[in-house]
Amino acid sequence: MGIFSELNLPAGVITGENVLKLFEYAKKNGFAIPAVNCTSSSTINATLEAARDIKAPIIIQLSQGGSAFYAGKGLSNDGQRASIMGAISAAHHIRTISKDYGIPVVLHSDHCAEKLLPWFDGMLEADIEYFKKHGEPLFSSHMLDLSELPKEKNISICKEYLKKMAEINLFLEMEIGITGGEEDGVDNTDVHNSSLYTQPEDIWDVYRELSQISKMFTIAAAFGNVHGVYKPGNVRLSPGLLKEHQEYVRAKLNCEDDKPVFFVFHGGSGSVKDEIKEAVSYGVIKMNVDTDTQWAYWEGLKGYYESKKDYLQSQVGNPEGDDKPNKKYYDPRVFIRESEKSMAKRVKEACHDLGNVNRL
Ligand SMILES: [Zn+2]
Repeated sequence: MGIFSELNLPAGVITGENVLKLFEYAKKNGFAIPAVNCTSSSTINATLEAARDIKAPIIIQLSQGGSAFYAGKGLSNDGQRASIMGAISAAHHIRTISKDYGIPVVLHSDHCAEKLLPWFDGMLEADIEYFKKHGEPLFSSHMLDLSELPKEKNISICKEYLKKMAEINLFLEMEIGITGGEEDGVDNTDVHNSSLYTQPEDIWDVYRELSQISKMFTIAAAFGNVHGVYKPGNVRLSPGLLKEHQEYVRAKLNCEDDKPVFFVFHGGSGSVKDEIKEAVSYGVIKMNVDTDTQWAYWEGLKGYYESKKDYLQSQVGNPEGDDKPNKKYYDPRVFIRESEKSMAKRVKEACHDLGNVNRL
């Protein structure tokens, strides 16, 4: 039993129907897959290692800023060039090594606001090129975040993109309603409370319009979630709203499936575990993980430095002797590895929270 035998998925990056099968399976079996934001081969490898160790599929996602970082901060990002090339480079890294980790990987790009569309277009071009050669897109899925625009405009631009994406079997993730907090330069920390909760009619409008084009889309709805970790404020997480959304869409479709929509949970960092579980039971199949794994990566390095401090002050000389070399302590492979181990541990915890363990 499990993903490999029941769904016949390959190891490595999966696309198209295989992603659809995986998301359907997760929804039916009541678990979700963490989408871990990665910015380097080190964070990617740590994520793959974690998922392999607990026998689970994983989603790796790249933000626009993370993609530019992957290409190198020394490169100009004029016209989104570094973000495009960085995302493509990361995609090839993931494609090259992920089969060896023996797990299915969904390769996704994160939030793309309207002003960043050239980044999206650049990745899409690479997908089309890759499709011509290999019969599948380079990425599995991309996200468009036009939640700042009026609903009609948000939906109509998503439709235009989904038409192009459907031709090469790409998934689209869209966002409706506003997730609080700040991410990649979009600051929603002072948005009015009511717009932090998407209404059922909004979900139906999105579902009705997009499902005419393709089944391959997911919706990030706002239910009081916030990007980043903040002190508890006046925003309250209401996962129960997702249940109402599902019921509303089910009634409109008059279908058997009590969870017709694939939901994505943004801003899950710092959430109470019970709220995460509840959201998953209402059809969340993907939860973004960024802030908590960033902290874990740093914490690994911090702990290492604190425990080896006296060996890290000069190239030669430590408590064992003035002539003792410290090379084996300051070799980046040693201290970066500590970050990787700590991050992998946090990725595993996210998988546990979402029920994404022993699924292969
Ligand atoms: Zn979001």
